[in-house]
This record gives sequence, structure tokens and C-alpha cells, in this order.
Amino acid sequence: MQDFFNIQDIEEEYDVVVLGGGPAGMTAAMYAARDDLKTLVLEKQFPGGQVAITEFVENYPGFYEGIMGADLSENFYKHAEKFGVLIRSGECLSIEMDKEYKILNIKNMDKPIRTKSIILCLGAHWKKLDVPGENKFYGRGVSFCATCDGSFYKDKEIAVVGGGDSAIEEGLYLTKFASKVTIIHRRDKLRAAKIYQDRAFANDKIEFLWDSVVTAVNGEQQVESLSIKNVKTEEESELKIAGVFVFIGQTADTELVKELVKLDESGFIVADESTETSVPGIFAAGDVRWKPLRQITTAVSDGSVAAKGAQKYIGETFGE
Ligand code: NAP
Repeated sequence: MQDFFNIQDIEEEYDVVVLGGGPAGMTAAMYAARDDLKTLVLEKQFPGGQVAITEFVENYPGFYEGIMGADLSENFYKHAEKFGVLIRSGECLSIEMDKEYKILNIKNMDKPIRTKSIILCLGAHWKKLDVPGENKFYGRGVSFCATCDGSFYKDKEIAVVGGGDSAIEEGLYLTKFASKVTIIHRRDKLRAAKIYQDRAFANDKIEFLWDSVVTAVNGEQQVESLSIKNVKTEEESELKIAGVFVFIGQTADTELVKELVKLDESGFIVADESTETSVPGIFAAGDVRWKPLRQITTAVSDGSVAAKGAQKYIGETFGE
């Protein structure tokens, strides 16, 4: 694989710059490079996006026996690399327009990058509970990543907050380690797909705390308990646990482009199935775009559509 951290060989001009190296970004880059567009992927954290820290993926078509998230993201990386994409560590600090060209200022780089089109695959991050103790105990019992932190809770009692696919899927995964997983949900019905619900209800290690919200995370050095409120009865209680995993949905990572492209009221980029944003030549793919379903499949779909859109835009605008 390429030297991800070597930014010396980044050139000054590209046809397509993809911001974000998750499934949407890698697919967009692979399609663009395969169509002979000079393509750079910049990723500010680690390549792979959230899939890279997902334990096991069992609903990505073609992998009928399932595949480890880390392996799938490595395959995406290698696939883009095979067609000549340069994949580099880099944080874009600002984007300016110079007629049809887009100018990207990159952290730790002396010169900006000029590109004909941009594909924004910036992803999303986990929402916080926004309660006392959550920030204080982040990394000391409060986690947003079961794959990263699950093994710290061998034979311990933990909690998961949320009722969607993520909460239930990750809650099930955490039963590999924990002696008991209490899923705290603010309603009395789960949002998660039936297949996950059935598995969770059948799992002896999982208990549910319905109609309940966390009001505080408590402890001395580490998390020791959660303050819980029943939203129907207003009753308050304390749940003793060694750790809490928060999976209550995601917020789009659109800080960089909030003044540039149109966002919806939740902060996701407005772009229809063509993935074109409000700015010609700038496309949005994957979790960062408004959509009814956030999956690896919908991310890779967006990535391929965005690359084709970029190719068409470059042809029409730059006469190539
Ligand atoms: P989600 O579907 O938005 O679910 C968020 C859950 O958190 C909901 O149950 C919601 O409660 C609860 N919640 C939201 N804000 C809360 C708050 N402030 N306090 C307490 N609870 C709160 O998010 P997600 O589970 O991360 O899933 C996001 C997308 O990824 C979905 O499209 C999902 O299908 C997809 N996904 C798919 C898979 C898979 O297929 N393998 C795995 C993970 C995620 P309410 O139900 O009351 O709104």
C-alpha cells in the first residue's frame, strides 16, 4: 500500500480531489481514476471511515459470509490504488473558488491545490448525549466505538444508549465481552431493523431500560454509574455500570463547507441523486449527503454517481 503520510508527492493540480477516504470517497476516486481523471484522496484521520472500525459487516452484497470492517476498507483502498489514485493524509482547511477552479488550502502544505472538481465524502460523527460527565469521562468509560473499546469490558456490566441499528448491532457485539449489556432507549419501541431486534431480544446478556434517558454520567476516575430518568413516570434512578456506549445517531461533518454549499436544517449537504451540490463541480457522496438510508451500499452508490458527475462536469466546463 502507498505511504499514506508522505505529502511530498501531492501535486498542485488535479481533475478531482476527493475529501474523505471512507467507502464513498474510495469508490468515487476509483471510478474517477479509472475514467482517466487525475485523482487525489485526502483523509484527515485514517483511511476507511467508520467501516474500518466496524467489527463485522454482513450486509455488503457479494460477501455472503460477511467480512471484517477493517478488511473491507483495506479492499476499498487497494481497489482505488490499483487505478492510480493518490491517497494521502491531509486536512483541508478552506475551499475558495477561482472561476471554475476550486482552490484547497491544506494543513501543513505550503501551496494550495487547484482542482477542477471536488467530491465531498466528509462523513458524519456520533452525536453526544450532552449531559454532565459525558465529556469528562470520554475515554474513561464513555465510548462511541464498540470495536475500539469493547474488549476493556470483559465480564463487566455496561450500558448502550440508543434504539437504532447502530445501538442494537453494537450492543450485540458488546455481549462478546460484557457480562451484561443494558440498552437504554427513550421510547418503548426500537427503531432498529427487525433482524437486530430479534437477535437482541433472544440474547440473555441484553436487558432493556425502556422510556428512559441518561441525565448524567457519574464516577471518580472512571465511569461508575449513570443517572437515569424515566420519561413517562419522571422517576429517577441510578444504574451501576463500568462503561457506556453512545449510539444515538450522527451529525454530518460539514463545518468546512457550511458557507460554501447548501445544507439542510440538520447540517447534511443538500444534493439529489445526481450528488451535485449547490456549487457546480462540487459533489457530495456518502453519509454527509442528505439521504433516507446510510449504509456502505448507499455510500458506494453515491461515490460512483459523483465520479461520473465530475467527469461530465469537467468535460462540459473545461472542454475535455
Ligand atoms: P438512528 O437510526 O438515527 O437511531 C438513533 C437512535 O438514537 C434512535 O433510536 C433514537 O431514538 C435515539 N436517539 C436520538 N437522539 C437521542 C438522544 N438525544 N437521547 C437518547 N436517544 C436518542 O441512528 P443509527 O442507529 O446510528 O443509524 C444511522 C443509519 O445507519 C440508519 O440509516 C441505519 O439503518 C444505518 N445503520 C445500518 C446498519 C446495518 O444495516 N448494519 C448498522 C448501523 C447503522 P428514537 O428511535 O426515539 O428516535
